[in-house]
Formats: sequence, structure tokens, C-alpha cells
Amino acid sequence: MTVRVRRLYANVFLLTSPQGRLMVDSGALPYAPALARLLRTFAPGALLLTHAHVDHAGGAFVAAHAGVPLLAHPLEHPALTGQVHDLPYPARRPELGPLISRLHPKVPARALRPALPGQDLLGWEVVALPGHTPGQVGVLRDGVLIAADAVVGAGDGAHLPRAAYNHDHAQALATLKRMADMDLREIWPGHGGMLRPAQVRARAERADG
Ligand SMILES: [Zn+2]
Ligand SMILES: [Zn+2]
Repeated sequence: MTVRVRRLYANVFLLTSPQGRLMVDSGALPYAPALARLLRTFAPGALLLTHAHVDHAGGAFVAAHAGVPLLAHPLEHPALTGQVHDLPYPARRPELGPLISRLHPKVPARALRPALPGQDLLGWEVVALPGHTPGQVGVLRDGVLIAADAVVGAGDGAHLPRAAYNHDHAQALATLKRMADMDLREIWPGHGGMLRPAQVRARAERADG
């Protein structure tokens, strides 16, 4: 198996296994042309959207037009299809979030399929990582976890998204603690570089929430 990362604002992952090629997340809307090129060159069998935030799903409509099967947890479908417009950022201007969401092309419901925890996706296991959003998921294979915004990578280690960006910060912290207890080798966040288990454990053990 291989893990390759492209930064289309948020990280986009190109995962291969003997079962096929899986793309995880689609980047932000301004990167849609780069995503279209990636879809042509990588030719994924499916695209998993870890959650509906526009920096991860902003290009998903391009994949839908290209006929790539899109998968996401059912709790994320209403935001992906534009039935709801919850978006907890930009920083200090959360009232702009719904407007920004409405300016983004959405995904037709018929293009979306459910991704449920425990499901096999082209050789990768879907893992529930709720808290940042209600239906956030990652994928796991051989100790490698694609963790979306359950954790953020920075030069000084692992962080949680700030509480204002988490749908349920306590649940996000519980998810991080669960990740710290998993038998992992590599943790790939939705923003920043790869993290080691010790870095995630150090953040999970911090007392300040
Ligand atoms: Zn997010
Ligand atoms: Zn993000």
C-alpha cells in the first residue's frame, strides 16, 4: 500500500492497496482545477469525503461530474448536498459561515453513497472520528490512519482544531484519546504533516481539554 499527499488547502490523500485506488477528500474550491488533474492521473475507484467542511469537500462536485463514486457518513450528507449550511468558520466571523457554504457548489444526492464505520473501502477500513463534525470518518489500514480534522499536524506536534471549529469539542477530545489508544504507526491529519503515535498521545494526555 502507498500513501501520497497533495495539499489542496486541506490534505488530499491518494491511497493505493491491492484492492484499488482510493482518494480521500477533495480540497478547497480554488484548487478545483488541480483536483480535476489529480482525478485524471490517479483515476480513483472512489472518493471518500471525511466530512463536509468546504476545505475538504469544496472540490467534490468536480468528482461527481466526473462520475467518481462519492462516499461520506450519512450525517454529513445534508451539508454536502446543501440541505443545511452549518460552517463554524472563518475565525471570529462565524456568521459568515452559512454564506460561504451557500457560495460553494454542492454535490447531487444521487452521487453520494454512505460510508459507515467498519465498512471496507478499497482495502481501507472506515473509522468513526466524531466531534469535529458529527459524521467525520477516517480510514485505517496496517496501522496507518487517515485522521481528517480529528487532529492537526504542526511543527511542534499534534493539536486539536480550536474549540470554536469543533461541533462538539468534548467528543473531539474523546476521539483523540481513542486514537491515542489505537495500535498505529502513522497518523495523517487533514492539515499538516504526518504524526507519530507518541505525538498524538502527548496531546491526548494534556489536561486542558
Ligand atoms: Zn473540518
Ligand atoms: Zn479542515
